[in-house]
Amino acid sequence: MTSPVWHPFTQHGLHEPVPQITSAAGAWLTCADGNRLLDAISSWWVITHGHCEPRIAAAIAAQASTLDQVIFAGYTHPQAEKLARSLVEMTPAGLDHVFFSDSGSTAVEVALKMALGHWHNRHEPRYRILVMEHSYHGDTIGAMSVGARGVYNNAYAPLLFDVETVPFPMKGKEQASLDALDRLCRASDKPAAFIVEPLLLGAGGMLVYDARTFAEMAAICGRHGVLFIADEVMTGWGRTGTLFACGQAEVRPDILCLAKGLTGGAVPLAATLASAEIFASHVSTDRAAMFFHSSSFTANAVSCAAANANIAIWREENVPARIAALGHALDLGLERLALHPRLANPRRIGAVAAIDVVGDGTGYLSDVAPRLRAYMLERGVLLRPLGTTIYMMPPYCTKPQEVAGLFAGIAEAVDALP
Ligand SMILES: *Cc1c(COP(=O)(O)O)cnc(C)c1O
Repeated sequence: MTSPVWHPFTQHGLHEPVPQITSAAGAWLTCADGNRLLDAISSWWVITHGHCEPRIAAAIAAQASTLDQVIFAGYTHPQAEKLARSLVEMTPAGLDHVFFSDSGSTAVEVALKMALGHWHNRHEPRYRILVMEHSYHGDTIGAMSVGARGVYNNAYAPLLFDVETVPFPMKGKEQASLDALDRLCRASDKPAAFIVEPLLLGAGGMLVYDARTFAEMAAICGRHGVLFIADEVMTGWGRTGTLFACGQAEVRPDILCLAKGLTGGAVPLAATLASAEIFASHVSTDRAAMFFHSSSFTANAVSCAAANANIAIWREENVPARIAALGHALDLGLERLALHPRLANPRRIGAVAAIDVVGDGTGYLSDVAPRLRAYMLERGVLLRPLGTTIYMMPPYCTKPQEVAGLFAGIAEAVDALP
């Protein structure tokens, strides 16, 4: 019998195998047929410490039988209060208010609405949004509008709003990118905000740029009074080596988007943090100036408990040391892989490593990604290349010998390409 399930980013017409996963622990998934898979992409970038992390699992179990879910408009609960305080403490200075939602895309929609609401309530309406080339911010209409255009959103193109794009700051071309941002900020029709993924563009191809350029972009926006939105949905919670990528560049954004690793990846939760100024522009005795946004599961108590357990791990255990050790293992593997004639542009930031397949066959629809994915699946590794970019983003508990095995498998998989 065929399954009624409609999978995301999946072409059902190709009848590719869909393994059924029945359990997980640490860096490993167990399939219904008993096979084990190394989760080399942290289950789509969400799992940080490891699957079924005991402290997070225990917090979820305890909360599920204490308070599951309660309306968050006009009501609050201890887990959300505690989490909001911790987030304000841990994130860059100046982010004093926390708005909860349930996915990265929603965190981005909330950020954009906060920015537009801020200017609207100040009676200086602004609607221009600046973005970076090759960005990805999610798959809802607003999040797609501020992300790169391509085959994945052609069908919706007429409904996506216009944005202005700053070129990606390629190595050696950083100044051109900064100049373009400065020019867009100087226009008499002032932009409302610039939204950007700090240091690492994920879905755009695991593209890395330097902290100095990122800091300079924040400074340019600051000088021109353009709100600076940092989308740390993927980069947050250690993925780039520090708790937040903004920390490496000492950037204080006006708005910060968090999701994915916020709960250690176990359950969905998102948060959009905002400056006192942005919050203040929504505070008034006039109900028409409130922030008009809500999701049914805003600040779900079970999710907040999981996030508090994740934060306890960050506070009490040496997570950066684990990430550094994993980064070292990734470097060793990359060094060897870089010698392969079909591979180029090795790069690594924190717990993320990437390398590009060169030669024939380019673009997301090329055969390279599905071929590599199928080859690795047969050898017990869950990998999902982005077009011709092979990347690894394993959970922080992944052992050096597991990373070495992963790289050996990739070398063989690339050898097997036609
Ligand atoms: C994954 C991602 C999103 C979207 O998050 P979802 O939870 O999948 O909606 C937004 N921004 C960035 C940078 C992401 O990597």
